[in-house]
Amino acid sequence: MSVVDRNRLGKLVQAETARFVATHPAARSAFERARGSQLAGVPMNWMTRWPGSYPVVAAAAAGSRLTDVDGHDYVDFCLGDTGAMAGHCPAPTVAAVAAQAAVAITTMLPSPDAATVSELLRNRFGLPLWQFTLTATDANRFVLRLAREITGRSKVLVFDHCYHGTVDETAATLDEHGAVVRRPGSLGPQVDLAATTRVVPFNDLAAVRRALAHGDVACVLTEPALTNVGIVLPDEGFHAGLRALCDAHGVLLVIDETHTICAGPGGYTAAFGLRPDLLTIGKPIAGGIPIGAYGMTAEVAARVLARDIPQLTDVNGLDGTLAANPVSFAAARATLTEVLTPAAFSRMTALAARFEAEAAELFAAAGLGWHTVRLGCRVEYMAGAGARGDRPAHDGAEAAAAFDEALDAYLHLALLNRGVLMTPFHMMALMSPATTDDDVTAHTEALRAALAALTG
Ligand code: PMP
Repeated sequence: MSVVDRNRLGKLVQAETARFVATHPAARSAFERARGSQLAGVPMNWMTRWPGSYPVVAAAAAGSRLTDVDGHDYVDFCLGDTGAMAGHCPAPTVAAVAAQAAVAITTMLPSPDAATVSELLRNRFGLPLWQFTLTATDANRFVLRLAREITGRSKVLVFDHCYHGTVDETAATLDEHGAVVRRPGSLGPQVDLAATTRVVPFNDLAAVRRALAHGDVACVLTEPALTNVGIVLPDEGFHAGLRALCDAHGVLLVIDETHTICAGPGGYTAAFGLRPDLLTIGKPIAGGIPIGAYGMTAEVAARVLARDIPQLTDVNGLDGTLAANPVSFAAARATLTEVLTPAAFSRMTALAARFEAEAAELFAAAGLGWHTVRLGCRVEYMAGAGARGDRPAHDGAEAAAAFDEALDAYLHLALLNRGVLMTPFHMMALMSPATTDDDVTAHTEALRAALAALTG
């Protein structure tokens, strides 16, 4: 395996940064202006994480493409980190939103689409009863509340290096001694993690067993595969073992499908026959219009209703005036029935397989030892784990340790300068129903050029 020449890498980053600055003067002016009214010059802190000296400013986005205020056209594989997985501005969603916005925007009453969307989610994910929020973060928050309420237990078990949105209890990781500590970089430790959270490595059923044996865990909250520290796939039998352990210890199993809906129309749950007690989702299901949702089994619903929770009215902590609004429902109805269809998933998955194969070939030819991992229409490339870096990561800590910050920064910037946007936090690409073969070719050629400069 060839070793990257760090000196050369540093020079390439300098050259790509200079190219970015020279070609993005309008973004620079926008950034300088924004610094006068926004913290760190951005409206939301993740925007500081894009490659370049300041973020590109998006002027318009349609299908798989995005145009910035400097007139550049990009193939967008970030797709709003999944919020735009349905493609930018899909026509059926745009039409449904426009029609609904002319009739009713927000009412705090059910609209006719509400039942339709609940039924669509029920049919896709198999869970019979649904509630709605504005974000996946809120769906996870509310599910934690319900789990605590009906089990009478205080803790959530999450996997090391998980991400479930800005949910305080999940901003936890394991330190080198195996103790639960706040995730590096998480601001303001709002809760005492020792009181709220158990953390174990992904794919480690023995650790799950030990953690649940304490008898204080209300629910396990997990993605079916980790997708926020690169993609870490579950071992064969991991999910069956997790389900059995939850059953044995009276613990609720919550599956967060917010990203893993990339596995198919009913997410990983439907594709692999998982049996969660609760399921959370958000991001793409309304084509980018804010929505979050959580589904539950009839048994969970019966336990919730037995607590007389609905009678607690406006202070029970599961609500929000803008949640379940008619525009979100209209957008979700159109997106689920006309955009994120089973046929679209087949095409997206085939494109992702091609994207992956071509990237893997380039890494092999360059002798870089990077791995590709794919889950449905989502592809990641990342440095390998293990002493020789010769295999995909098996848990979150391995994936985090293998992360090559300098190489990651270079590849993001080199691709952006060649018209290809990847998800900023890691080398992740997502296919939408609007993504084309030409888009995949554009990525392959941009990556080829970036690697040639590195190793040539
Ligand atoms: N769950 C998972 C698995 C996620 O990746 C994210 C966001 N990256 C969320 C929940 C939170 O979604 P949102 O930011 O829309 O609240």
